[in-house]
Amino acid sequence: MGLIIYLNGEFVPEEEAKVSVFDHGYLYGDGVFEGIRAYHGKVFRLKEHIDRFFDSAKAINMTLPLSKQEVIDVVRETCRRNGLTDCYIRLIASRGKGDLGLDPAKCPVPTIVNIASSIALYPEELYHTGMSIITVPTRRNIPEGVNPRIKSLNYLNNIMAKIEASIAGVPEAVMLNQEGYVAECTGDNIFIVKDGVLKTPAPYLGILEGVTRNAVIELALKRGIKVLETAFPRYDLFTADECFLTGTAAELIPVVKIDNRVIGDGKPGPVFYQLLEDFRELVKVDGIDI
Ligand code: PMP
Repeated sequence: MGLIIYLNGEFVPEEEAKVSVFDHGYLYGDGVFEGIRAYHGKVFRLKEHIDRFFDSAKAINMTLPLSKQEVIDVVRETCRRNGLTDCYIRLIASRGKGDLGLDPAKCPVPTIVNIASSIALYPEELYHTGMSIITVPTRRNIPEGVNPRIKSLNYLNNIMAKIEASIAGVPEAVMLNQEGYVAECTGDNIFIVKDGVLKTPAPYLGILEGVTRNAVIELALKRGIKVLETAFPRYDLFTADECFLTGTAAELIPVVKIDNRVIGDGKPGPVFYQLLEDFRELVKVDGIDI
């Protein structure tokens, strides 16, 4: 059975959910989006996702035609209409239909879409064995260009890095920023543990400030773990005791090899397991009811 999609104020069957080829989201990647997840009938940290969605839109000077509360209701209603309680949600605002020029002023009405669908999880086994990933030559976009804090529809930077990872036969790529500091992966934030301290790149280095990342920082602090949002180069990856990635789809996933070098003892570490357990408890309670 097909999905019911929210499109510009209506809920329509997926075959009818069509957008113009003159939409600047299609022509130029001009727009913003969110990847959100619901667990056990609750949308995890929905308010944080909606805040980021509105900030992304504001950063590209796009005025959304709905209030935050209306977008929250759209997300919940899409889940209800599809009978979904555990799902992945894709909320999209593109610049809308315009002409073939770049000018967003020619696109009077943004296109708003929301999709609720099943989740493609990494195999559970990877959470026990850990992933092997690489650093790639493609650098993360500079903040003065397209700031990575904007969750924009223009993901070519990430896709270029993903292609490099795929060619090398690994599922993820670590991107460095222009100065050579570790930034983030193509669809996940990165954490390391060294001597009991949890470290993750600070947002000013040019990363998407992940909702999962921020939840993990809170959980670590609650556990009494020292957390540093800081700049570090590849040296710190190679010498880390533990490494893991965070993201809405991946949750927390351990990394045991980077550039074919073994991280720590080559197994997911105790800090990772503790935080994964805390996170899986958190998603049961921290969310807005569908
Ligand atoms: N960085 C990038 C580039 C991403 O696309 C994502 C996934 N949206 C993340 C980090 C993780 O963010 P979140 O925890 O909000 O899903």
